[in-house]
Amino acid sequence: MSAKLIKGTEIRDAILKEIEAEVNEIKEKHGIVPGLVTILVGENPASISYVTAKIRTAKDLGFHEIQDSQPEDLTEEKLLALVEKYNKDDSINGILVQLPLPKGIDDKKVLNAIDPDKDVDGFHPVNVGRLMIGGDEVKFPPCTPAGIQEMIIRAGVETSGAEVVVVGRSNIVGKPIANMMLQKAKGANATVTIVHTRTKDLAFHCKRADILIVAAGVPGLVKPEWIKPGSCVIDVGVNRVGEKISEKTGKKIAILKGDVDFDAAKEIAGSITPVPGGVGPMTITMLMRNTLNSLKFKLGLM
Ligand code: NAP
Repeated sequence: MSAKLIKGTEIRDAILKEIEAEVNEIKEKHGIVPGLVTILVGENPASISYVTAKIRTAKDLGFHEIQDSQPEDLTEEKLLALVEKYNKDDSINGILVQLPLPKGIDDKKVLNAIDPDKDVDGFHPVNVGRLMIGGDEVKFPPCTPAGIQEMIIRAGVETSGAEVVVVGRSNIVGKPIANMMLQKAKGANATVTIVHTRTKDLAFHCKRADILIVAAGVPGLVKPEWIKPGSCVIDVGVNRVGEKISEKTGKKIAILKGDVDFDAAKEIAGSITPVPGGVGPMTITMLMRNTLNSLKFKLGLM
């Protein structure tokens, strides 16, 4: 293998340690800890496991955490009232409404009801606007893109003047990471191209990339011959391609593959993220950092 492996698990552990140290320091000086509430409506098994992981991480870091589980038949009106309750709760710095919401509830209406200063997911239009302006305006970069940028920085990859190609233009990954990479800022200053299903020649653009960020949700979309030798490849894709029995637990688990043909790509790229164990572990980590930062903004520490 020629490429350096960018391990999300190692970067996650380092960042969580930094967050924990800051939480302890703030607790000592100000007698307060970051507060995070996750609101889960219904019993979608994937959502339960995501929320459980988020709350467990928050607890391990010494946050004040609340898991507010609500029944599937909760009305939109009641959910909006719940969001408003946490908007007003001084002990809460971050509000996360786990998606998808049950049918009959308007996701957009609910997300837009979150106080932008507690919107640690960074999906509120106010925070999307702040991200677009950049600089001091940015409060809560969305967690997956923030994790991607942090990995690029910590892997020591030069971004200034780099050709960055982003495959995918979703609101949660493609558009925000492209916007972040073009800002006049640390870990950015890149020349950015976004490609998608209407792009005429995907291979042409990918081949030019010094940093290739792939978030399409199509297993093996990026072929090894599309990768520029020595480039940095960030594979955001998480695709369930089958099932296997876990050696650890003996239980059935999903076989996950990225959007890049990893085995071949690692022989060409200079650095690359694996799937699983790459971008995946970074998302919750950045949620924790946004929640900590929310408290720091409130205390005037940022
Ligand atoms: P999405 O909303 O489905 O967007 C996918 C984007 O990729 C779209 O813009 C689409 O183009 C583009 N695309 C799809 N097929 C393509 C093709 N054949 N050629 C060129 N472009 C193509 O997906 P998402 O939410 O951004 O997620 C993308 C992947 O990242 C998924 O595998 C998801 O599971 C993963 N993900 C991982 C994390 C994490 O690790 N923490 C977080 C979020 C997402 P059009 O706009 O033209 O349709």
